[in-house]
Amino acid sequence: MIKQRTKSIRDFLKNDEAFIVSYPANRFYLSGMNTSAGTVLLTPKNAYFLVDFRYFEKAKRVVNSCNVILSEKLPKQINEILKTDGVKKVYFENRTISLREYSDLKGNLPDFEIVNDSKVEDFLHSMRAVKSQAELKIMEQAQKLTDDTFEYILNSIRVGKTEKAIALEMEFYMRRLGSEGVAFDFIVVSGENSSLPHGTPTDRTIKKGDFITMDFGAVIDGYNADMTRTVAVGNVSEKQQFVYDTVLKAQLCALESIKAGAVCKDIDKIARDVIDNAGFSGCFGHALGHSVGVEIHESPNFSPRDNTVLKSGMVLSVEPGIYLENEFGVRIEDVISVTDSGYYNLTKSPKELIIL
Ligand code: ZN
Ligand code: ZN
Repeated sequence: MIKQRTKSIRDFLKNDEAFIVSYPANRFYLSGMNTSAGTVLLTPKNAYFLVDFRYFEKAKRVVNSCNVILSEKLPKQINEILKTDGVKKVYFENRTISLREYSDLKGNLPDFEIVNDSKVEDFLHSMRAVKSQAELKIMEQAQKLTDDTFEYILNSIRVGKTEKAIALEMEFYMRRLGSEGVAFDFIVVSGENSSLPHGTPTDRTIKKGDFITMDFGAVIDGYNADMTRTVAVGNVSEKQQFVYDTVLKAQLCALESIKAGAVCKDIDKIARDVIDNAGFSGCFGHALGHSVGVEIHESPNFSPRDNTVLKSGMVLSVEPGIYLENEFGVRIEDVISVTDSGYYNLTKSPKELIIL
């Protein structure tokens, strides 16, 4: 599976071109190994993974998409490989490289043209966007673990508990169930804090009448899950119910229009129109969704500016929200995979308003 990835990029490169990869998520995607350092080097002739002593032994065992090489004098080794493979032009990750790394690259490879053009990187990202059956299976497992955590925490939320305590319990349960870590720092925000789309858990205690928004996700084999649910405690006001119903309607309408061939920004607009037409214009200040995979935020996005045409196998979140400053907020987030005829929802947790 991973070998096909390096092969596809090597086929994409012209005879005298090479691609140097050092961004961690790309390195993981092309090597299958999570490391804090290392370089994947692709030429039309071969794929190489240069890695230091800390990872070398393990890399020899697990990496089969690249020739594993112990990196000792990295610039010299890369120069030699490029010369041997007849390379003249070197592409790099210009979305993520720092200015300093760029000048080092030029300084270290004086005999080659360093091409400041993202065509190979864009190709890699378009590959990453479309998940294989094997990747979808892993992502479904991660999402299942996330669903299970939601079911667990519903039985544990009580008036008087702090946001921090709830977040910690969720993380503990999820890791015990087999999650490799957390996809991101969990968001658990309640009452007036729930109007903060990316608030962090505080010592605020849960009170009757609160909305609690929980945004969380597991990690399996390096792939992330992502999900948000908003639940109520004790009772809800008419306004709370109306806001919740509007967010849910926005999500359901957007979901209905998702299928291969649809355009990302059109899906965003469908949800945004539902929210605006209900009188909450300006209260949904983020994109409707983002792609998910080996990173929690990938492209394309369901945003007002993204013209990407959906392809079968893309995995994106659908997460409309309404945030009323100093009052409360609601967000509902599922992760779906795009199919030719519609979508498949990886998130199975219920979405009707739960009042604990
Ligand atoms: Zn989320
Ligand atoms: Zn998300």
